[in-house]
Amino acid sequence: RSVTGILAVQGAFAEHAEILDRLGAPWRLLHSANDWDDSIARVILPGGESTVQGRLLRLTGLFTPIAEHIAQGRPVLGTCAGMILLARTIENEGAADTASQGAAFAAAARNDTAADDTASSSSVHRHAAHESTAYFGALDAVVRRNAYGRQLGSFETIGSFGDIHDLPLVFIRGPYVTEVGPKATVESRVDGHVVGLRQGSLLATAFHPELTDDTRVHELLLSL
Ligand code: GLN
Repeated sequence: RSVTGILAVQGAFAEHAEILDRLGAPWRLLHSANDWDDSIARVILPGGESTVQGRLLRLTGLFTPIAEHIAQGRPVLGTCAGMILLARTIENEGAADTASQGAAFAAAARNDTAADDTASSSSVHRHAAHESTAYFGALDAVVRRNAYGRQLGSFETIGSFGDIHDLPLVFIRGPYVTEVGPKATVESRVDGHVVGLRQGSLLATAFHPELTDDTRVHELLLSL
């Protein structure tokens, strides 16, 4: 096994390939299950739209081989949407507000005076809408989608990933981690929020190392 498989159903996969080219490391884009074989040593799950990627993982047949790869403890780097796909639990930022506003709006439209009913049904909706089903569910953490908001969620700063310091961090409507389970370790923090995790051979970043000139996170993946 020597090839890095880059999930290429949607999102920023080409940028990961460019970084691997700079490092002279062989890679293959994973468009469908036909692209999977035993030469795949490690997988990159790129940024993009996790809900779309999750659906396409099923449609392309790539979900099962990647889930088996993860279960065997082989290396994975998940960036941004990729971190969401790895998470044990996914929270949708804003979903609670939308659900309760929706319930309040519906009650107003019905001219509903049964406030207790409205409150209880709204809290049921709130819970249902707030968490969505996990995809690989392998990373022992709760990850909140669009945690910085959708409009002002894109920024750059300097931080670390474990021993890698002075690392440029690019965020594009990224998530952050709201709860870290005992299997995962915190590798990056920005303004008190956890934005990088490691769990054995799983590396997950809320930021986009592929959108910078810094190749050290990819070098770490290649070293695993
Ligand atoms: N907001 C996206 C999601 O929730 C992630 C954004 C990204 O990968 N840059 O899936």
